[in-house]
Amino acid sequence: MGGNSPCASCKLLRRRCAKDCIFAPYFPSDDPHKFAIVHKVFGASNVSKTLQELPLQQRADAVSSLVYEANARIRDPVYGCVGAISYLQNQVSQLQMQLAVAQAEIVCIQMQQDPIMVAANPQMALGQADDNDQAFLLQNQCFNFANNNSSSSTYVNIHESLKRESIFGDIVS
Ligand SMILES: [Zn+2]
Repeated sequence: MGGNSPCASCKLLRRRCAKDCIFAPYFPSDDPHKFAIVHKVFGASNVSKTLQELPLQQRADAVSSLVYEANARIRDPVYGCVGAISYLQNQVSQLQMQLAVAQAEIVCIQMQQDPIMVAANPQMALGQADDNDQAFLLQNQCFNFANNNSSSSTYVNIHESLKRESIFGDIVS
């Protein structure tokens, strides 16, 4: 760069864009918003320091993540990208729980159809459901299944407790 066409950073900071400007490769003059947002959230000197501490081949990735984080922080000033992480972690937990419920229901159905075989080979019936949570869930689920012949109440309870246990409380609606 340098000379007649300063990079977006130097343009915003109103300074001469040197030949070895650390920002120039990542903040082209045709995308001023990209630098403006990281400057607003992190400050130009912090971004510069961050880039200087990294090897050349990692700087482009660092800029991408800084831009992503800055955008998230602008959208959600309280949680930033942690809001998105928390939301996705919560979804993973809910899906794992749904999977465990479905596996438990399969075992219950198998037990109703062929109780002797399932009792003799509990691991086979459990399939991959071999951790403690799922084994516990299976017991409860079979109990409910036997009593109500319906899993809907357990399912709802699991969802309610998951919501309560969410790390960031009620930011996930
Ligand atoms: Zn520059």
